[in-house]
Amino acid sequence: MKASAIRPEFVEFIPKLLEPGVLYVSEKYRTASHLCACGCGEKVVTPLSPADWHLSMDGGKVSLHPSIGNWNYACKSHYWIRRNAISWAGGMSKGQIERVQARDFADRASQVAQINRERDEQRAAASGGFFGRVLRTLRRLLKL
Ligand SMILES: [Zn+2]
Repeated sequence: MKASAIRPEFVEFIPKLLEPGVLYVSEKYRTASHLCACGCGEKVVTPLSPADWHLSMDGGKVSLHPSIGNWNYACKSHYWIRRNAISWAGGMSKGQIERVQARDFADRASQVAQINRERDEQRAAASGGFFGRVLRTLRRLLKL
């Protein structure tokens, strides 16, 4: 049966056996897990990082961004968790699924690129001096 709500439970370790209707959140290990909201029993793991999922809290209610797309599972469930509510994406055609996946992938790739860029800049700043100047000049020349 499709669930319409989920409640957060903050834990240090994600338990081995998950209860349906619960989103387990480990802030320490920056991950969240829940059983697929369709009721199929599959475990859905959503790492929390700038390149994966973003968890927001609002008055004790959780939202996850982006959507949960369980296309690797038989159920192919796709839903959003917004303020403890599950909103179902409804049946998507194969083409629509591919577009969402492509968009998620592009989002992720650009976030990863951004993180790498910031790390490179921090490194360059840390090593300072000549190397940093060369890197900045190169980046400007290559319009990165
Ligand atoms: Zn499912």
